[in-house]
Amino acid sequence: MTLKAGVIAVQGDVSEHADAVRRAGAAHDREVEVAEIRTAGTVSDCDLLLMPGGESTAISRLLQSEGIAEEIVAHAQAGKPVLATCAGLIVAATDAGDDRVENLGIVDVTVERNAFGRQKDSFEAPLDVAGLDSPFPAVFIRAPLIEEVGEGTEVLAEWDGRPVAVRDGPVVATSFHPELTPDSRLHGLAFFEDADAEESIPVGE
Ligand code: GLN
Repeated sequence: MTLKAGVIAVQGDVSEHADAVRRAGAAHDREVEVAEIRTAGTVSDCDLLLMPGGESTAISRLLQSEGIAEEIVAHAQAGKPVLATCAGLIVAATDAGDDRVENLGIVDVTVERNAFGRQKDSFEAPLDVAGLDSPFPAVFIRAPLIEEVGEGTEVLAEWDGRPVAVRDGPVVATSFHPELTPDSRLHGLAFFEDADAEESIPVGE
């Protein structure tokens, strides 16, 4: 069955996520059809959703004015998977400490915008991620700092003693940008359970 992936496309790095989810699907023998979401009415057709990075205040404003915000919340509440990255994480969080961001509260963490690795705006780091059997190349760009993690939220990866990837039920969220490298395992982890286990099954067996 072809899966329908919706990439929230009001602002931010949309095409990179569309490519990454297609590649992750291919790695798991799943065909993925991608829809770019700019208006209300499409999210309910989607099996999985991606909330890209970009500028969280702009993304939040547009999600509210277009009526997409409540559809994303309904999708997550129905237990359908979401991958939220960087600005996507900021919007998806419970609280970002910024009045211009209307938080969706689908991943139980509080964040501080632009606070991670303040010394350097952008950097790349190899990350150990729970569920992946070798380090993931994580690209951080003016990344949010995850300050508090709610009880039901699992930390999947830390950098410098701070959580940078979490899972709260169907929602996986990262402070970094997994779509900016050719490695699609993080998308696999978010959408196609047991990503590495499946990948390690030799072809033909
Ligand atoms: N700094 C951005 C914000 O606060 C997020 C950066 C990103 O998505 N790369 O919205």
